Amino acid sequence: MKIISAEFHKSSAKVSQCPKEDRPEYAFIGRSNVGKSSLINKLCKRKALAKTSSTPGKTQLVNHFNIDNSWYLVDLPGFGYAKVSKTLRATFGALITDYLANRKNLMCLFVLIDSRIPMQEIDLAFMNSMIENGVPIAIVFTKTDKLNKEQFATNMKKYEEELLEFWEELPPVFYTSSKNGLGSGEILSFIDDLNSKF
Ligand code: GDP
Repeated sequence: MKIISAEFHKSSAKVSQCPKEDRPEYAFIGRSNVGKSSLINKLCKRKALAKTSSTPGKTQLVNHFNIDNSWYLVDLPGFGYAKVSKTLRATFGALITDYLANRKNLMCLFVLIDSRIPMQEIDLAFMNSMIENGVPIAIVFTKTDKLNKEQFATNMKKYEEELLEFWEELPPVFYTSSKNGLGSGEILSFIDDLNSKF
């Protein structure tokens, strides 16, 4: 699948403000600076559809993008910011939690993880809570172009081992780079396949 048209649809501060659940949607989430905006822009072949986050924690909104009038790509607020206050963190925690617990048309939540860094407690805790709550997730490793072959193999093996300590099997996993485009085609094919099941 190739995306022909991608346009901003709306920002919502509450789940009740989100668009009607009349088509499949796919959400992207990760810690600040993980490369979420870059990946969204790459998938949509647009330079600045999703705004790269210069001020962490500033926009605590659920952003819907209309893709080819047939599905939504959803940019969720990041989590685990060090710079935001506890109250703000609690707020966007609630928005994300509410969204993830209630969107019936959410086909998959793509959890982005920086392939260069070791497993972070907050990512693991987040993924575990998603699985416990029955939210379908896929793991997307970002910035793979920044690693050489050896580092990449070592890091990915370590992740796999750590995750399999908690889970019986891995969810779908994608290795991506917004620089060289690795993994975009695979993610879009995965979405295409799920779209046909909506
Ligand atoms: P966000 O905060 O998760 O939306 O992250 P951004 O998309 O704004 O990316 C954070 C920084 O990482 C920016 O400087 C990007 O240029 C850089 N970046 C994002 N993805 C990649 C990637 O795949 N490869 C490389 N080399 N840099 C990336």
